[in-house]
Amino acid sequence: MKISGIFEKKKALWSFEVFPPKPTADMSGVRQTLKELADLSPDYVSVTCGAGGTGNRRTAEIASVIKELGIEPLAHLTCINSSAADVERSLGELTAAGVTNILALRGDRVPGAEESKDFRHASDLAAFITERGDYDLCGACYPECHPESASPEEDIENLKKKIDAGVTHLNTQLFYDNEDFYRFSERLDKAGITVPVQAGIMPLVKKSHVDKTIGLSGAKLPGKISRMIARFYDDPDSLMAAGIAYATDQIADLLSAGARGVHLYVMNNAYVARTITNNVSSILASVNR
Ligand code: FAD
Repeated sequence: MKISGIFEKKKALWSFEVFPPKPTADMSGVRQTLKELADLSPDYVSVTCGAGGTGNRRTAEIASVIKELGIEPLAHLTCINSSAADVERSLGELTAAGVTNILALRGDRVPGAEESKDFRHASDLAAFITERGDYDLCGACYPECHPESASPEEDIENLKKKIDAGVTHLNTQLFYDNEDFYRFSERLDKAGITVPVQAGIMPLVKKSHVDKTIGLSGAKLPGKISRMIARFYDDPDSLMAAGIAYATDQIADLLSAGARGVHLYVMNNAYVARTITNNVSSILASVNR
């Protein structure tokens, strides 16, 4: 089913993001995680892909497992280091895996890697995919503004190009201050962008998230979460509990404010997905009544 069709039926979607294991790793661990995620009945599960086309085959493999489990997959597809022929091949693999929902991405710049002559932006990829079949396209967006954009206004102008190229819904970059999401929603309203936007929430539950992921995303850390990190950085159980509590609170506020759903970056951790899903299930049920 197309995710845009789910948005037509529901006020707020609930979904998870997973990443594929390394090409040489066996699939049993991720299969078990996916089974546990499927038991939580998300609206869909997205699977990331590496820039450079290297991760695409594994992305298709994981997407087909998600599909076998009876959940709709959303496959990420990047283009920054890919030729048109590479993308054509990846699309073939995804289609063979039963994928119709694609998150069209530029991808992060990989130092030293040759950049595509065929695609400069996610909007180029979205237009290319739109011409090739009946896919449902998601795009990335940035409540705190993409770091390469000169201003939030320019970022929104570029976002419009993605939508004009066929993107029908958006998933946000992770953020820890809901006010950034609300300000972003106002900018979208002003620009006349009406496609549904799901808030991307990454529960900050591990030291490695603090060290790597936050740095990569450039997300701003409000005082409340900085205090949590300072206090529990070396106490794994407490960081897990406090991170889940923070994410639960963020999600309850977003759903109260009318967000069209939450996409949870669960970092392949089914325990985190299950605990937060249980915490917010009655709120989700209420907004979807
Ligand atoms: P674009 O939309 O191309 O935007 C990049 C920059 O170019 C922005 O400053 C934008 O304003 C500007 N721009 C966009 N279109 C135009 C245009 N037509 N003309 C001029 N300027 C333009 N990375 C991965 O490698 N793999 C993943 O699986 C992955 N998943 C992600 C999932 C989500 C939900 C998000 C938010 C990000 C994800 N990323 C992933 C990271 C993403 O690839 C980076 O943030 C990347 O820097 C930008 O990708 P984009 O698709 O938003 O690019």
